[in-house]
Amino acid sequence: MGKRLTGKPVSKAIYRAVKEDISSLGVEAKLVVLFIGDDPSARFYVRNLENRGAKVGIVVETRHLSGDITHQSLLSIISELNTDSTVHGIMLQKPLPSQIDEDEIVLSIAPGKDMDGFHPLNMGRLVLDQEGFLPSTPAAVIEMMRHYEIAVAGKHVVVLGRSAVVGKPLANLLLRKSNVGNATVTVCHSHTENLAAITRTADILVAAIGKARFVTPDMIREGAVVIDVGVNEINDGDRGTIYVGDVDFVGCEEKASAITPVPGGVGTVTTALLLRNVCLALKKSMGLA
Ligand code: NAP
Repeated sequence: MGKRLTGKPVSKAIYRAVKEDISSLGVEAKLVVLFIGDDPSARFYVRNLENRGAKVGIVVETRHLSGDITHQSLLSIISELNTDSTVHGIMLQKPLPSQIDEDEIVLSIAPGKDMDGFHPLNMGRLVLDQEGFLPSTPAAVIEMMRHYEIAVAGKHVVVLGRSAVVGKPLANLLLRKSNVGNATVTVCHSHTENLAAITRTADILVAAIGKARFVTPDMIREGAVVIDVGVNEINDGDRGTIYVGDVDFVGCEEKASAITPVPGGVGTVTTALLLRNVCLALKKSMGLA
């Protein structure tokens, strides 16, 4: 039976460090969240972010914007936030309405305030092994590995999924010449042939494909470490709507040496890392980082 790698101890340690940092600086940090429309799960996420921020000394200000906001109006709001010295970070809450050109909006956010880490400059820095703001989800996978002292160097890590949000940045972080890096990385996607044959060669398997319980026990090697990034809403009969990962947890837990649960795994760490980015942005604005 694999060891359960839960996210709570990891996020707790990050929140503690952020709180200490902010209080030692004696300045208020501010994150502005641009929330367009009224998606219920996004609303829940943002409320949680506001509460978490308040606990560590970061003001999270949510700007509720109408679902029919024009692309130009959004650009103007971002332009103002970019020059407002009381705002240290900007976050764009997804989903975005169809009239918004996401690539152009991301590009318009000042890289020093890009808390999602999706600006091409921050992505470029990530790939080039330079310091910048890291996207929270791949960074959460790295923090989980760091916290639980998973040996990564020289290991074969298979990343399932190549999205710009998770798979691609994560693969690059795992390649870095750093503590939780120096891995041999294989990235798989929907065109990959003989997928199970590849996943079975993984010392560490990271699943980020958005398909409920896709990874079954026959797809992993005995003793592999399994990290599940997926969050999928399914209807579970009497239990109603529940959230499950991309990994068949019950089956794979038997075979893995360690495995992250969903919920309670990687997802628990992402908000903490977003707030850590805000703390870093504040320090940079003070010339301290
Ligand atoms: P995405 O943009 O839909 O990307 C999915 C990736 O999986 C794509 O690269 C796709 O390949 C690949 N894929 C899909 N079906 C496949 C299959 N049958 N075999 C092999 N590869 C397949 O999703 P995402 O945004 O990266 O998210 C992935 C999962 O992580 C989702 O469950 C999402 O909810 C979760 N997530 C969690 C957090 C968190 O905080 N915990 C944050 C973000 C995302 P192609 O590129 O060929 O299409």
